[in-house]
Amino acid sequence: KIGGHPKPGGPEKVPGVERIIAIASGKGGVGKSTVSANLACALAAEGRRVGLLDADIYGPSQPRMLGVSGRPASPDGKTILPLRNHGVTLMSLGLLTQENEAVVWRGPMLMGALQQMLFQVQWGALDVLIVDLPPGTGDVQMTLAQKTHLDGAIMVSTPQDVALLDARKGIDMFNKLKTPIFGLIENMSMHVCSNCGHVEHIFGHGGVAAEAEKMGVPLLAELPLDINIRTTSDGGAPIVVSQPDSAPAQAFRALARNL
Ligand code: ADP
Repeated sequence: KIGGHPKPGGPEKVPGVERIIAIASGKGGVGKSTVSANLACALAAEGRRVGLLDADIYGPSQPRMLGVSGRPASPDGKTILPLRNHGVTLMSLGLLTQENEAVVWRGPMLMGALQQMLFQVQWGALDVLIVDLPPGTGDVQMTLAQKTHLDGAIMVSTPQDVALLDARKGIDMFNKLKTPIFGLIENMSMHVCSNCGHVEHIFGHGGVAAEAEKMGVPLLAELPLDINIRTTSDGGAPIVVSQPDSAPAQAFRALARNL
């Protein structure tokens, strides 16, 4: 049974998991799940044992992005066996709910579900567990930081002012939770016309780099707005897997090597 009240108590280590890295964003639709999926695949391609916990409870998109479906088994009725594709071990609330079913849980049930996904899933031995957080600064972020040890967070933003403003709030939250910020990723940084090669900065230019410098956190990557990034994710094989020689795939591989 998924959901239910959270356990009391302080941070606990997830058995077998070396490091936990959260991928966060201030607002939705900036590419946080896309980055999580590609980074997880890139870590796997670099030989790391990697898990992906889709904690974007209200809009779990990892099963589709990683091309995974079916209900995870629970042979003992207590623990859940995660699914696996592209070398990534995956658990998502989306695997336990029907695709068109809205999750309408209140806070405590949600926190119970998050804890189950951390502690009752048989993750096995992992070098890194990537957590795809919901957007914003809410219960899931707080619970995660309080119930386990987060090694660091990566913040995804577009160059647009509104997205940046929200990213700033997110960084402030991680500072308060004492979670180290590994850096910012600027997504949809620029668009390169596939016909003529003309570069256009659709959401503005330089905003994330300037912000990163102001806050003293590294700018980890600038990813283009690229139709192949979307179509490959929609097709269940992220660009890192399906177009490994492309510039975005190489950017993710470089990021994975440095993590
Ligand atoms: P979030 O997790 O922040 O809500 P998603 O990763 O789900 O955002 O991305 C929202 C939509 O934008 C998806 O359809 C995704 O495929 C697309 N997308 C994300 N990043 C890019 C990009 N760099 N280029 C093209 N499409 C992108």
